[in-house]
Amino acid sequence: MSQYRNNLDFAEQMDAGDPLADYRAQFHMPQTKQGDDCLYFCGNSLGLQPKALEAAMAQELEDWKKFGVEGHFQAKNPWMPYHEFLSESLAKLVGAKPSEVVAMNSLTVNLHLLMVSFYRPTKTRYKIVIEGQAFPSDQYAVQSQARFHGLDPNAALIELQPRKGENTLRTEDIEALIEREGSSIALIMLGGVNYYTGQLFDMQRITKAGHKQGCVVGFDLAHAAGNVPLQLHHWDVDFACWCSYKYLNAGPGSIAGCFVHARHAENFELPRFCGWWGHDKQTRFQMGPDFHPIPGAEGWQLSNPPILSLVAVKTAIEVFDRVGMQALREKSFKLTGYMEFLLDNLNSDAFTVLTPRDPEQRGAQLSIVVHENGRKVFTALEQQGAICDWRSPDCIRVAPVPLYNSYQDVYQFVMLFARLTGAVDQLREAI
Ligand SMILES: *Cc1c(COP(=O)(O)O)cnc(C)c1O
Repeated sequence: MSQYRNNLDFAEQMDAGDPLADYRAQFHMPQTKQGDDCLYFCGNSLGLQPKALEAAMAQELEDWKKFGVEGHFQAKNPWMPYHEFLSESLAKLVGAKPSEVVAMNSLTVNLHLLMVSFYRPTKTRYKIVIEGQAFPSDQYAVQSQARFHGLDPNAALIELQPRKGENTLRTEDIEALIEREGSSIALIMLGGVNYYTGQLFDMQRITKAGHKQGCVVGFDLAHAAGNVPLQLHHWDVDFACWCSYKYLNAGPGSIAGCFVHARHAENFELPRFCGWWGHDKQTRFQMGPDFHPIPGAEGWQLSNPPILSLVAVKTAIEVFDRVGMQALREKSFKLTGYMEFLLDNLNSDAFTVLTPRDPEQRGAQLSIVVHENGRKVFTALEQQGAICDWRSPDCIRVAPVPLYNSYQDVYQFVMLFARLTGAVDQLREAI
């Protein structure tokens, strides 16, 4: 017998007993034309605005007004060391030491900068392992890195594909490939959570398998940061980067994050692209001609960061500090599990869920392939105030975000989805 029930009373009870229920009120929920809360299930694409941001932003505008350049030192949160104010929280978020993380640039830029250092092909070891149908920006990034080294991307890339008839990858198959091709693989670079299927990879096992073969292992955590607990240091991951505007709620295009394992902190032999903000803080303003990197992730910085964007990252990430990834994960299991239960309960042939069934192999996302008229269903969802995300040709991605979505949201969404896919006739009460 399931722990869930297919009725609104049950959803209300779950919300009443939800220890994280109050966090919803800390975010601006988009409104329908009628002035009701939208059913917002798009936090995997753009997280909601924290209400605390407006005041935090106003503070920086005010300090700039008041101090001009002196704000670098005089502002309430001085701009000179501003990125350091985020280190503790970022480190906690991804399971790292503060010196292993930094907020800088945007995601794809960081991916490139890190590959400059960590993709170092040789004549015999030059391949990059990536998921088949990876996020296009990642695909373009690794292709162009291969070309940059004079390699043909078709020869350099190994794209992981699911077995015939399956939608997601098996860890044992990834391990087997790494073992088979290991000596020719320079870099393994996967999304920690695949953006399309929502599959969460076993990063620890993949890193271990890669290291055993002498490969460098990095992850793009765009869909993992703020979604699932991470232990990058402990897992021994070489590098990682992520954006801050999806589950982390730091606003459109906001400053991204990056992780470099402590093992590489003082390896100044690694090639890197340099800028003054990565230069030793003691001597940066002597403006000397030679670059001396800061040990650790900060040494990969290029520019002085956009404070107005870092304010948003700081504000957003402090919420994660308070709530904690474990508590979020616990609710996430239940919330996504509830959506899965309700969808299963429709007992419908109109759609298929691509995302792994095993809660340990997914985060807060279900990818639903709608077999007919998917685009129409999606548009109708939108018109009725349910915001999710469409991927051609037939996939609706839905993210029940534990920070601000409720069980009632999930219930309402599935009932609406049922009506629109014609599954409503098949609704039955779960016993
Ligand atoms: C969202 C996302 C991106 C976006 O890259 P930006 O540089 O932030 O525009 C890249 N890769 C993955 C896997 C993503 O999910």
